[in-house]
Amino acid sequence: MINTRYTTATNSIFSQITQYCAQYSSNTNNAPVLSLGVGDTVLPIAPCVATAMADACMQLSDIHRFVGYGSEYGLPQYLGAIQHYYNSMQVYLDTSEIFASDGAISQLCDIMDILTGSVIAVPNPSYPVYRDTNWLAGKTIVALQDDNALSALPTQHVDIIYLCNPTNPTGMCYNSTQLQQWVNYCIEHHCIMIYDSAYSNFVRHNLPRSIYQIPGAQQCCIEICSLSKSASFTGIRCGYTVVPHALTNANKAWRQRLSYKTNGVGYIAQIGASMALSECGLAYSRTCIDYYHNNATRLQKVITANLRLQSSGGIHSPYLWVHCPQTMDSWQLFHYLLDNYGIVTLPGVGMGTAGQGHIRVSSFCLQDTVTKIEERLSNAETIW
Ligand code: PLP
Repeated sequence: MINTRYTTATNSIFSQITQYCAQYSSNTNNAPVLSLGVGDTVLPIAPCVATAMADACMQLSDIHRFVGYGSEYGLPQYLGAIQHYYNSMQVYLDTSEIFASDGAISQLCDIMDILTGSVIAVPNPSYPVYRDTNWLAGKTIVALQDDNALSALPTQHVDIIYLCNPTNPTGMCYNSTQLQQWVNYCIEHHCIMIYDSAYSNFVRHNLPRSIYQIPGAQQCCIEICSLSKSASFTGIRCGYTVVPHALTNANKAWRQRLSYKTNGVGYIAQIGASMALSECGLAYSRTCIDYYHNNATRLQKVITANLRLQSSGGIHSPYLWVHCPQTMDSWQLFHYLLDNYGIVTLPGVGMGTAGQGHIRVSSFCLQDTVTKIEERLSNAETIW
């Protein structure tokens, strides 16, 4: 029998947007689409990362240096690079607590294999994967209350909590005091937090980038991270998952799961990821993140000045969370911007009911795209 939840589920928000873009573009009179929607990176990988991967590829073509299967837990060199990166945040992990992955999305779902408990708390709005994949698996979803574009602590019993920091889609960031409240809550209520730090490199100032900067977190949190957004690895596919020994039995369970269900992550991807976490790779990442931050600042300016819409986010995040005018909902503003200006955004309601009345604007675009948006909106006549 087929799980009918798969066959009856509505299309993801990302494919709905893609469909509307295709419709708009099929009219040859329309201006080319300017995409601030899906949130894919546009800047290339670091030259040092490209060289390392090219060398790894040549190594595999040499009979004397060829390697086949690696460890299902990750290449020692990559795990060491992640450990070193965490040390720079005063977080001290053993490499046996770190596991290579093919990116965050698979981990956010697969981690459920080792967790019992069927009541799952999910921020509203949030990255749809938390909600959708748990719904597909027949779990009970509890939507966390929105608290000024962050989430409020649960008000009923839950077994597992997803938390993303900085948040997607609202582009906000929890500070240490707020994260401490979440960790304390998990310890007190015996729940496990799945902490998604896919955007941690966008955090500025001294705010925490890892949940393990918060005392007690190693007892109750699993951190899932990715090089997708920080090192332009959306196509290469590499990330990692931290499962601390202090979280009773979790490390052993995850280790077993990997040995049953995977033969590891691609060698070339892990070699590239190791270089992305080197001094040279991280310096390049910082220039890319500055570039996206600069885009966010310019986009916020034009949205405020020309569309006369309020927005938040964009400081510790590549995303702006734009408030719709009172007369429009998320999809109406999405269509208004697409149909009149060829600008693609993401309707907030697609990320959860509490996202209604907002759109998400991604700063993952070229500067040239921002310039074109500034031009197209320079004489915007708003109907609100
Ligand atoms: N987590 C969040 C919050 C995301 O926004 C995304 C992708 O957009 C992911 C995880 C998935 O990242 P990856 O490319 O590593 O699978």
